[in-house]
Formats: sequence, structure tokens, C-alpha cells
Amino acid sequence: MRFDLITIFPEFFAGPLDHGMVRRAKQAGIVQIQVLDLREFTKDRHRTVDDRPFGGGEGMVLKPEPLFEAVEKLLGHSVGDAAEPRNPEAGTAILLMSAAGRLFTQETARRYAALGRVMLICGRYEGVDERVAEHLATEEVSVGDYVLSGGELPAAIVVDAVTRLLPGVLGNEASAQNESFAESIATQRSSDTRQLSLVTRHCLLDFPHYTRPAEYRGWRVPEVLIGGNHAEVASWRRKQALAKTRRNRPELATENG
Ligand code: SAH
Repeated sequence: MRFDLITIFPEFFAGPLDHGMVRRAKQAGIVQIQVLDLREFTKDRHRTVDDRPFGGGEGMVLKPEPLFEAVEKLLGHSVGDAAEPRNPEAGTAILLMSAAGRLFTQETARRYAALGRVMLICGRYEGVDERVAEHLATEEVSVGDYVLSGGELPAAIVVDAVTRLLPGVLGNEASAQNESFAESIATQRSSDTRQLSLVTRHCLLDFPHYTRPAEYRGWRVPEVLIGGNHAEVASWRRKQALAKTRRNRPELATENG
């Protein structure tokens, strides 16, 4: 999987993408991450990436030309002009980070994890010339209902969430299937055909985790976790996950039962 980040602050990513799982995935060659400095794609002496908004108003807007040229350099061909309908690349997503985009979820992360290449365009200032959303990006992506000062943190979020889903990145492959937002699919083996059949689907938050000490400041770890009965532990975890989902994210619990 290859990620290309387009930004006016290339040094921003040295920290967030250089630790833990993402670092290991890079070292193992599972992901390649390239950071492009948008200013490299300007042609004027001042390396201008922004300009005043048409129609007036506060702030500056990222200009379209350097962004189109950066993506075209990555793709190795031109994206077209107003006379041609845009033809998105198969296996490649061109994401514009945007507070006005579609919400990024675990489901979106799973979808991107199946691609070969994801390009992420980081906005700044008041935002990005709309022609980038209309004619260059394949999707506008928001990481949540709040406004940040730039697209770099959102892009790092997307890279992190997608990377940990790639085969070979999580130490224990099973852990991505049991965590928050994993669609847990309860299956039942039919005795005749030995085929797995779908029974129910849920989207639950994670169950609570505990480690030693078994008692801390008078707070004891739930007894069931110490008892060693795996069936009881599994049923307790499921109940707790449901209770936590209802408490913290009731809209998830009601949608999925
Ligand atoms: N005027 C815009 C906000 C611009 S913030 C608006 O009201 O929607 C500057 C840049 O930060 C954006 O271009 C985008 O790239 C990034 N950004 C801010 N909040 C974001 C969010 N929730 N998700 C993704 N990108 C975001």
C-alpha cells in the first residue's frame, strides 16, 4: 500500500508517522509513505500556494494549479480539462481532507485498506479551491464534526487507521476483529453442509480491559476475569461491550440491536 501526502508542511509528518505500528509497517515494506511539499509544484519566485477568495471574505484559499500538478506528477499523466469528464484511477483514491467531507469511519478505513494507493491532500487556511473537490479528488473526507486548522492531522489519522488493518501489521491478526467498530459476525456451522451461515451482525464498542494489579486503591478487577472460565469471560465481555455502547454511543446500539 502506498500513501502520498500533499502538504505545505512536509516536516509535520516526521512525528506522527514514525512510531509504533506505522513505523514497523514502513520498515517491513508493507506501506510506503511519501510526503510531497506543495511548494515544489509552484512556478513563481515566491512559491505561492494560496490566494484571496473570489467574492470576498476572510482568509486565503489554496490555489488549484499546484495541487493538480502534484497529483498529476504522482499519477504520471494529466487529469484532464473542463472539456473531459474525469476518469478516476482504479485502485487509487485521491482524498481531499475537508471538514465539509463525508465522515471517515472504520468502514471507510476498511475500504481504503483494499486499495493499492491513497493520495491525501491537506488543506490549510480557509480551505481549498472547490475545483479540487470537483475535478481532482475522488472523495472529500472529514475526520469528525469539528474544524481543525489543517488537513495534516486528519491525513495522519487516515494513514494510521488504514495501516493497522493491512495484513501483517497487527501482531495478533485477531485483534482487529474484536475491537471497537469491528462488525462482529456471529456464525453458526450447519451440521449438514459444514458451511458457515451468517446469523447476526453487530457494531459494538470494545469491552473493558484490565491488567495487574488485581486490586488497586481498593478497586478490584471483576472476579469473572480472574476465574478462568472462558465462556463466562466471553459472555461478560459481550454484556459489558453492549452496556458501554448503550451508555456512550446509544445511536450505535439502537441501529444494530
Ligand atoms: N473553511 C473550512 C475549514 C478550513 S480548515 C470549513 O469551514 O469547512 C483548513 C483545512 O483543514 C481544511 O481545508 C481541511 O483540509 C482541514 N480540516 C479541518 N477540519 C477538518 C476535518 N474535520 N476533517 C478533515 N479535514 C479538516
